[in-house]
Amino acid sequence: MKIVKVEPIWLRVKPFNEPCEWGEDAFILKIHTDNNLYGIGESDSAAAVLKMMFEQPSTHGSCRNLSEILLGQDPRNIKKIMDDLLEGSAYYGYSGALICALSAINIALYDLLGKIYGVSVAVLLGGKRKDYLNAYATFIPSQDLKANAVKAKHLKSEGFKLLKFGGAGFGSNALSDKEIIQGIREAVGDEVKLSIDLVGLWKNFSYARERFLDIKEYNLEWIEEPVGMNNVCDYARLSEHLPCKITGGEGFYTQNEFENFIKKSKVSIVQPDITRCGGFDTMVEVEKLSLKYGCDLVPHGFSTGILLAATVQFLASSKHCDLIECSQSTSALYTHLVKNLIPCKDGIIAIEDVVGIGVELNEELIKQYRIDIKI
Ligand SMILES: [Mg+2]
Repeated sequence: MKIVKVEPIWLRVKPFNEPCEWGEDAFILKIHTDNNLYGIGESDSAAAVLKMMFEQPSTHGSCRNLSEILLGQDPRNIKKIMDDLLEGSAYYGYSGALICALSAINIALYDLLGKIYGVSVAVLLGGKRKDYLNAYATFIPSQDLKANAVKAKHLKSEGFKLLKFGGAGFGSNALSDKEIIQGIREAVGDEVKLSIDLVGLWKNFSYARERFLDIKEYNLEWIEEPVGMNNVCDYARLSEHLPCKITGGEGFYTQNEFENFIKKSKVSIVQPDITRCGGFDTMVEVEKLSLKYGCDLVPHGFSTGILLAATVQFLASSKHCDLIECSQSTSALYTHLVKNLIPCKDGIIAIEDVVGIGVELNEELIKQYRIDIKI
């Protein structure tokens, strides 16, 4: 059995002269074999940049076209293939966009392996340990406080016990941030937990502590990425001094980066994104690190139904992790790219017995939004 075709696919809903805000572009990957199977992967990253890594001409042995490394390989040899990819891409740099591309490959290879053997990826990772996951809902808050209240009440009525909000500049204006938190807390009452995501906008320890004191009364469950991801000393001071969980990690890649971050930042929750960190293999290693250093792991996930399905398979096999992020994006790439998008009911995601990651793609939507620019 061998890999005969690699399809890097850039999807974009918006025209180039309009910004993609959240989830309106995506990078997905199909890896095809000579027995007519294909695996599906994704990376939530700079889609056009990743596509180029699969299409650019190789220059030398450490700067190779990623498709070229994959073609002809036996897809069952995942560890060997990942080693070959790292060796052939050293000049890309072992972080950032390269690891995002390798994440998509890793997910697609595990999906393919599941299809070859007729089992779920959870089985390949050691077996399914649970039938349900607790889900929390993430949304982007508006400056319209009434709209936030309607949304938060709706999510509460759908059964979510934890809501998180952030993005669209939330974190950059202390006064309006406080009004947004207050409005949402009043809308859902005390029985729903709330978390906020600052996307690093609270600058440093002193500023973050002041902002926290402003909003302490709203009893937040966690504060995500209060400061820039590389400000690990600020993370450590906040983790030690604030009576609230500090979380982060969605922007890190590889086991080494996660070990450095978890150890130094002292976060309560680490949040790797399976489509960026290195795929299933790295998620498994980050779970081990979370146990070693005493923090929880709650995966980051705010992209398409491929990411959601892959994250479900990782969590299904995990001994310690059972909380999953449930995007409230209205982008067609979240709602319709995957025909069988995993549903969330009463704040719970049921883990079905699937093959691979269990995703069926909407080929019509892919045709509609596919960007094919070749060099
Ligand atoms: Mg985040």
